[in-house]
Amino acid sequence: MARLWQGCACCEAQDLSPVARLGRRALLCGLAALPAVPSGTAHALPPGLPAAGLAQGGFVAGRIPPNARASLDGRALRVGPGGEVCFGFGRDHGPSAVLALTHPRAHPERHDLAIARRAWDVQNITGLPPAQVTPDAEALRRITAERERLAAARATDSARIDFAQGFLRPARGRTSGVFGSQRVLNGQPRQPHYGYDIAAPVGTPIVAAASGVVTLAADFFFFGRIIVVDHGHGVNTLYAHCSAVDVTEGETVAAGQRIGAIGATGRVTGPHLHFSLSWYQVWLDPAPVLPTV
Ligand SMILES: [Zn+2]
Repeated sequence: MARLWQGCACCEAQDLSPVARLGRRALLCGLAALPAVPSGTAHALPPGLPAAGLAQGGFVAGRIPPNARASLDGRALRVGPGGEVCFGFGRDHGPSAVLALTHPRAHPERHDLAIARRAWDVQNITGLPPAQVTPDAEALRRITAERERLAAARATDSARIDFAQGFLRPARGRTSGVFGSQRVLNGQPRQPHYGYDIAAPVGTPIVAAASGVVTLAADFFFFGRIIVVDHGHGVNTLYAHCSAVDVTEGETVAAGQRIGAIGATGRVTGPHLHFSLSWYQVWLDPAPVLPTV
């Protein structure tokens, strides 16, 4: 059953080959059939890394011995001067991952991690203008270019360790959309929603969720006026549908600094902030890392 919804329909449209071919029936059945993960599933993170992020969409940030090297599923991780390290798991990540640590004067460590499976919402949204559900050729060219520009910004791999300070809520307002939900637009299943939506009046301030450097400040077809901030080690936050953007690319921002204002630009049904968190190209669920108030 559709519920009151004031959000965006931008994420699912980033994928220009919608999952419609799966068929809505198969999609819904597949989601309903997901087995629950028993609470208390064993995990084996080393000391200094909190286990709360060991779930689909989860983010893990903490510290390991500064002189250690680390890898996740064979991918080398950056280790900061104080041992700062982070990694994340996508919405559809499998049930396990391997964190490996090597120390200069100790045996290598292998940590087998259990990644909790989550059940995701399905939302039905109707009445969107057909031109936005199926963009024309000119719009497709623009969308493709913007998608590449966004991917380049999110690929930023800096030595900053701003992510280690945690995150602030980027705006005050009502939660109007959650990470991972699968939207059905005018009857067509689309890519999942990879953001966390906060609905508030146009002009409501948006602040940087953490310190960092602005890697993208632009006006996109789906996302509207958009900002991306790099927080180091591949971690970045994204702010979309802004009515105002107060920063420029290359600018350093502090946690809590105003960077723009909530708006209704791009593909939206009402004014709100679409806020995303990602680790390199992996979208993560912002909600668990944000303060609840
Ligand atoms: Zn959104």
